[in-house]
Amino acid sequence: MEITTAFAHDILIEQEKASPEWIKPAEYLLRADNGGLIYSPRPGLYQGVVGVDFTSYYPHLMKEYNISSETVLCSCCDPSKDNVGIVPYVGYHICAKKRGIVPLSLEHLLERRMHFKRLKQASHDIVQREQARQKDSAIKWMLVTCFGYLGFKNSKWGSIESHQAVTAYGRYYLHKASSIFEKHGWEIIAGLTDSLWIRRKGKNETASALFEELGDIQQALQLVFKEIQAATRVPIQYEGVYDWLVFLPLKTHKEIGALTRYYGKFHNGCLKVRGIELRRRDTPPIVNQFQREALEILSQASNAEEFLKLISEVRELLSSWKARITHKQIDIESLYHTQKIGKEHYKVNNRQSSAKLQLESIGLHVLPGESMKYIVTNEKANNPWKKVLVAPLLRKKGVSFDIDYYNQILDRAFESLFSFFSID
Ligand SMILES: [Zn+2]
Repeated sequence: MEITTAFAHDILIEQEKASPEWIKPAEYLLRADNGGLIYSPRPGLYQGVVGVDFTSYYPHLMKEYNISSETVLCSCCDPSKDNVGIVPYVGYHICAKKRGIVPLSLEHLLERRMHFKRLKQASHDIVQREQARQKDSAIKWMLVTCFGYLGFKNSKWGSIESHQAVTAYGRYYLHKASSIFEKHGWEIIAGLTDSLWIRRKGKNETASALFEELGDIQQALQLVFKEIQAATRVPIQYEGVYDWLVFLPLKTHKEIGALTRYYGKFHNGCLKVRGIELRRRDTPPIVNQFQREALEILSQASNAEEFLKLISEVRELLSSWKARITHKQIDIESLYHTQKIGKEHYKVNNRQSSAKLQLESIGLHVLPGESMKYIVTNEKANNPWKKVLVAPLLRKKGVSFDIDYYNQILDRAFESLFSFFSID
């Protein structure tokens, strides 16, 4: 796409790219390599939180602020004389004389995306709405890859500096948007890259109370959104109001919320789940099943108080699953770990190395990146033949598995859902 744009604008395309990263002092890297801005949430249970996010944030920034490898730190402008753009935090200048290839290429995609977004909401034709939804989603993913490609050293119009410029603008304008929300009586619960979680300042009101106070919340936020869009040049949109939302702590620092681990229920009943076991591919199906059922129970709650009352029901669910394991009343396939092989050779004797050894003994060679399935037969055993059993060797009847181990991982799955409790 970039090459097509270059052709269309009569721009010479280098056959070999020769623009290594310039050498920077270490403090520069510290300032520049901060990635997306993070307001870490306090771990805990929240209610009446509104989720908002910038639409195609990084691509919009690239387009609006003319970010491309040949425009960031260009050689044609003199930063002291020309009216160049200056990237916040890192101070790189951006060309004032020409549009970059990347922004030029993005213009069309962003326009199309906004068109399909409008269509999927406004059209009265259900087929047209569905087509618009699919096209919007396809373009969304193309736009997501644009940012990664910008930092890829072999891409013709990519460079580390332009990549850093995007994240710097990203942090700057997410911060700006936060200040605007605060000015209008909201407080920021959490923020990550292009998303913010906000609630009415000083109030811990339920979603229903929020609706009573503000009516149509999306409508109520329109003025703030306009102000933010004017300040940042990027459209911002309403995602929804959470009846309740749980931010889980980081595994390493219990007092800090992990923005990649949260789950919540929107007022319309939809759940949003990130980073807990049930989202991970290597988790045995039994854990997924338990957590899914736990969330089903919790989704009956329409505020924080009701959520807390339902925890005892989830505890009963846990006991019933553990009893089924202890009495072996479960489908053996629900115990499978599915794990990717990371390395060619393992030095330590762990579950992966044991499984790999067993597969090799029956002539099945798995390569790094391929995955294998096994159940845990005795987690504490050192003997790789006793530790696990790989799928091809599993006889369905009479197989024995490590009951304690599977009870423990269910306990952990329960604890991880409610691990925010240990904080206060
Ligand atoms: Zn220039």
